[in-house]
Amino acid sequence: MSAETPAPPPPPANFIRDIVADDLASGRHKAPVTRFPPEPNGYLHIGHAKSICLNFGLAEDFGGRCHLRFDDTNPLKEEQEYIDAIQRDVKWLGFDWGKNLFYASDYFPQLYAWAEELINKGVAYVDDQTADEIRANRGTLTEPGKNSPFRDRSPAENLDLFRRMKAGEFPNGARVLRAKIDMASGNINLRDPVIYRIIHAEHPRTGKQWCIYPNYDFAHGQSDAIEHITHSICTLEFADHQPLYNWLLDNLPVPARPRQYEFAKLMLTHTVMSKRFLITLVQGGHVRGWDDPRMPTLAGLRRRGIPPAALRDFCKRAGVARANSTTDVAMLDACVREHLNRVAARYMAVLRPLKVVITNYDGPGEELDCVNNPEDPSAGSRKVPFSRELLIEQEDFMENPPKKFFRLSPGMEVRLRYAYFITCNEVIKDAAGNVTELRCTYDPATRGGNAPDGRKVKATIHWVSAPHAVDAEVRLYDAFYIRPDPGADGDAIKDINPKSLEVVTAKLEPALAARNAQDAVQFERLGYFTRDPDPGLVFNRTIGLRDTYAKQA
Ligand code: ATP
Ligand code: MG
Repeated sequence: MSAETPAPPPPPANFIRDIVADDLASGRHKAPVTRFPPEPNGYLHIGHAKSICLNFGLAEDFGGRCHLRFDDTNPLKEEQEYIDAIQRDVKWLGFDWGKNLFYASDYFPQLYAWAEELINKGVAYVDDQTADEIRANRGTLTEPGKNSPFRDRSPAENLDLFRRMKAGEFPNGARVLRAKIDMASGNINLRDPVIYRIIHAEHPRTGKQWCIYPNYDFAHGQSDAIEHITHSICTLEFADHQPLYNWLLDNLPVPARPRQYEFAKLMLTHTVMSKRFLITLVQGGHVRGWDDPRMPTLAGLRRRGIPPAALRDFCKRAGVARANSTTDVAMLDACVREHLNRVAARYMAVLRPLKVVITNYDGPGEELDCVNNPEDPSAGSRKVPFSRELLIEQEDFMENPPKKFFRLSPGMEVRLRYAYFITCNEVIKDAAGNVTELRCTYDPATRGGNAPDGRKVKATIHWVSAPHAVDAEVRLYDAFYIRPDPGADGDAIKDINPKSLEVVTAKLEPALAARNAQDAVQFERLGYFTRDPDPGLVFNRTIGLRDTYAKQA
């Protein structure tokens, strides 16, 4: 990064920061202990980045700590691949949980003991109703639920049945354990919620040790308490679960009393985030994998070349609110461009080449000095080969240009970036009438790109030297959806842009081809690009230089 990179501004205030600050000021807590609790049932997406930045950010800013805790309570959906990917992605985003890596499955023995405790207190029972019956008897927002016929079993009978559930005597779904709270509660989450279910499946960490699993509600608050979490921060859809979170903590001998706070999810235009949907994209072959650069996953954003610092900045700017709203993805793009403009080294590359022969240029060629980053003088300059045969971008030439086209056309003089002024004299075409080559002359007095007589040109175009250029596969990404609100009327799959990926064989200046780093570079005038990990010389377009969504709208 350049020496001139400004210090980051202080994090903006938000209501959760205020709560934490007040709790420290009042002495309620010495330091915040937060956690990021992903379920390892898919890869992390940009929405998770917001939660990660918030939880880890609070811990950093207030001298506390943030745990990474896997909410691995459903072995049917969870996999080691996801556990590994999540850790990689949190680290990449720039956060470190240190020793504080936990799994809800670490607490299965304790959670089981607490479930027996609820049974013994007479506030949990084994229900033999089917899932459908339980659903049907739960009632609605306007009607109370109906008590289960098994609700009044004795603690001894419940304990016996629960132990037999644990011992594997019953098939999946045959029985569940429910908390005995209130079937008439105005909050449906308190209508005798299911807290344990039978799942005969292999768990990525506990293997076949268990065939009953606590559900999210029974695992989450207690895990928070076991870890002495002070502020348990989650998204708004959990607000209705908070009374149950508190009920469980009130009814169990937990070692600490965490509090839950809810904030609004990150939602983005042109984006669908839910893991369940992202899985269908991967499994349906609509993308090349979880880390396809068109995916809103952290792995996809990384592969696309989005710098983690730009993502963190975006999360800060998106803010933390109490009410849902949708953020324009253009704001993310702006953060990415702002960041890359400061740090990305510039190179020249031609995506769709057109040959240019400089008819009055004789000799073996030469090397010209090109500035690496005009935003960062410390980045220096490099030598770029120039010769009689060049390649320019097809779209920088028009044989019959409209009035406002100032790039190359017959008789028109333009500047070749960091090189010379050239004038087009002749257009060569193939039998089909396609332009295949331009014959131009250069002005040797304009070396470096300026005329000593002070004459001006209206355009500067980029180029590469044909004999020196290196081929590369370049993947050009366009919007993944054809509308800003994919899925707004039905399945978002039908809103996928069939042209979201275009692959071209580009010509690169040799220094660019020789470079191995995966950080983004700017191809002059074309955008920011990042080397793809695929074998060979492959680049992804991270982002164009200008906002194209605005044009679309
Ligand atoms: P999804 O619905 O996309 O599958 P999830 O909420 O089921 O996500 P979890 O792994 O359970 O995914 O989430 C881990 C944490 O990330 C939770 O605290 C959750 O509230 C938070 N989170 C998930 N999506 C977002 C989002 N869009 N914005 C902010 N936080 C989010
Ligand atoms: Mg979830």
